[in-house]
Amino acid sequence: MRIFNFSAGPAVLPEQVLQRAAEEMLDWHGSGMSVMEMSHRGKEFISIADKAQADLRTLLAIPDNYKVLFLQGGAMAENAFIPMNLLGSKNTADYVNTGEWSKKSIKEGKRYCTVNVAASAEDKNFSYVPPQETWKLNKDAAYVHVCTNETIGGVEYHWVPHTGDVPLVADMSSHILSRAVDVSKYGVIYGGAQKNIGPAGLTLVIVRDDLLGKALPITPSAFNWKEQAENDSMLNTPPTYSIYIAGLVFEWLLAQGGVAAMEQKNIAKAKLLYDYMDQTEFYSNPVAKQDRSRMNIPFKLKDESLDDAFLKGAQQNRMAQLKGHRSVGGMRASIYNAMPVEGVQALISYMKEFERKHG
Ligand SMILES: *Cc1c(COP(=O)(O)O)cnc(C)c1O
Repeated sequence: MRIFNFSAGPAVLPEQVLQRAAEEMLDWHGSGMSVMEMSHRGKEFISIADKAQADLRTLLAIPDNYKVLFLQGGAMAENAFIPMNLLGSKNTADYVNTGEWSKKSIKEGKRYCTVNVAASAEDKNFSYVPPQETWKLNKDAAYVHVCTNETIGGVEYHWVPHTGDVPLVADMSSHILSRAVDVSKYGVIYGGAQKNIGPAGLTLVIVRDDLLGKALPITPSAFNWKEQAENDSMLNTPPTYSIYIAGLVFEWLLAQGGVAAMEQKNIAKAKLLYDYMDQTEFYSNPVAKQDRSRMNIPFKLKDESLDDAFLKGAQQNRMAQLKGHRSVGGMRASIYNAMPVEGVQALISYMKEFERKHG
């Protein structure tokens, strides 16, 4: 029997996707092989990768002048490959610091260029998104980097920054496909798959084609976006099984009505949890209301000494992985696309019961 899994990542996947993968495990569509056993250059796998890309393009309405790359390395690795691929003849980039993942991007960026922190939410313990009026952008920057959903702090952009002619680069690891997005406003969108797409191992890069060809000579070929784009992400062996599962998730999302329908469900799920927390003193979320994440909801118990009992009771009630990130403590409920509303309702019932007993 399955549990409600609130892990921040690797995270819950749709049950139908897992069932389908199980059915197809030994023999994919009469090929007599598991997808794991296929050559990435064979017609079977090429059809899987092409369908995954086509469905992703449909889901996000990705314009034709954007390349979709299926790479390895995760978002952390891309933090290095972004400057390597985009600096060209420039030597500086702008970053907005909204929390733990922005900080990691900044740290990595500094190894390759001069980083200008155009705005930071550190003054209020990363509990908000600095409004655009406060950003000090540099017109000579090669790009502006943002993390549009801070997985640890639970802070999300609900607006798109304007960066003029300087390309906007967004780490969307933990909320991609949770909401409609106007891809044309971004130069690059990237993320690891293991939060809201599929299994670990797959990294998605969506890049506007005029930004290709600016890579520093030291850029590894397997992470050179232009070379990968010219080779349909098959310069090296791509993470084939992860691409296959991601493709099944894309099909599932289309069957749910696409990202616009998911967005409505995600708004409703997050509202249930925030509304409950806002009317009790027992639990609290530190994020400014207008910047709260729909995907990752950190919260604290009024009395921290009850944390262990809370987690233990949750586990007994078949709810797992609610412990907050080690850097912030407390609790965190990650409620990605694949978390059914029933999971959120079960969590709230448990929280109410726990409050009644200990409040
Ligand atoms: C998880 C996460 C990362 C790191 O991803 P890896 O695949 O572990 O490299 C980076 N950014 C955000 C926003 C994340 O949620």
